[in-house]
Amino acid sequence: MDKNCLFCKIIKGEIKAKIAYENEKVFAFYDINPQAPTHVLIIPKLHISGAPEIDDNNRTVVSDLIIAANEIARQSGIDKTGYRLVLNCGPDAGQAVFHLHLHLLGGRKLNWPPG
Ligand code: AMP
Ligand code: ZN
Repeated sequence: MDKNCLFCKIIKGEIKAKIAYENEKVFAFYDINPQAPTHVLIIPKLHISGAPEIDDNNRTVVSDLIIAANEIARQSGIDKTGYRLVLNCGPDAGQAVFHLHLHLLGGRKLNWPPG
């Protein structure tokens, strides 16, 4: 836990969010500024600043996030129509919050390449 981290505060309930999913290792909540009909952020309960911090010691975190995202996609009814999973890494990707978060986007046709 990082006491100055927005997403750690959401996990602790100090800042309110609409919860989409939770298990022992993973927390997921609806994005405050949704970019698609379904836009959920899936985060590890462990504070990790972003995907560049993933290495051999914490590699299972990534699969925990994806397994949770797939479950949320099924619950949201977008598993058949499709969805996008996004990890923004650093300034050029527009990463704004430095607690690892996987974006789950779906419920509409998504453009490629992204802007
Ligand atoms: P990124 O640009 O990849 O760092 O994404 C950060 C995301 O967090 C953005 O999509 C924001 O809309 C979202 N966000 C920021 N603050 C909150 C909050 N309090 N509750 C839910 N989502 C948030
Ligand atoms: Zn954090």
